[in-house]
Amino acid sequence: MAEFDNIYSESDPFVRAHFDCMECGGRLWEYAIQGQMVCEDCRAVFSSGDVFDAQVEA
Ligand SMILES: [Zn+2]
Repeated sequence: MAEFDNIYSESDPFVRAHFDCMECGGRLWEYAIQGQMVCEDCRAVFSSGDVFDAQVEA
């Protein structure tokens, strides 16, 4: 069983997420505190749940 060890979880509120922005295709960062993701390019904000659902359907 693989265990995901996130070294940034305590030192940085942003967690690099493996999702693409639904607006511009840029990289999304998960804002761990609020369950949101923000695009590093266009700064669009999505809820993590919405992003996950969209990626699963794609
Ligand atoms: Zn974007």
